[in-house]
Amino acid sequence: MDSDITFCANHPDRETGLSCNRCGKSICASCAVHTPTGYRCKECIKEQRQVFNTARVTDYVLAFVISTALSYIGSIFVSMIGFFLLLLSPFVGIIIAEAVRKITGKRKSPGLNKAVVIGVVVGGLPRILPGLLSVFFGGGLGGLIGILWPSLFVLIAASTAYTRFSGINIR
Ligand SMILES: [Zn+2]
Ligand SMILES: [Zn+2]
Repeated sequence: MDSDITFCANHPDRETGLSCNRCGKSICASCAVHTPTGYRCKECIKEQRQVFNTARVTDYVLAFVISTALSYIGSIFVSMIGFFLLLLSPFVGIIIAEAVRKITGKRKSPGLNKAVVIGVVVGGLPRILPGLLSVFFGGGLGGLIGILWPSLFVLIAASTAYTRFSGINIR
């Protein structure tokens, strides 16, 4: 018998060669979380998150409000420039991420990313909803062309803002 065989701390029936590099506990593949510094157990990840999660409730509200406002302004602006919005939407996303970062400062939370993305989507909706409704209520497919640009804007701006913001936010 190989005495080196270890079993998952959470699943005593599962053999594993993995262990948490923080607390040293043996963990199976489904319990292990891959981090840039190695495998960690879920408990350690949770503890770490609590340390990193320093955002206040007002940060979420501000992140959402700023993203919504800038996205709304952006969506009006880009709807006037047609094709060029493909080039400008990423900048709007970056501006949104930077603005939110300025306001929330050094406080961090994975949830802030979501607040930013939801804000961008909500801010773009006023330009998308009327067209969408007209398609549903017999306006025909003509409405689809009307929502194409604002939808693309929301998609690009939201993903850029998310990438930018999580780049700043999570280290
Ligand atoms: Zn651990
Ligand atoms: Zn397990």
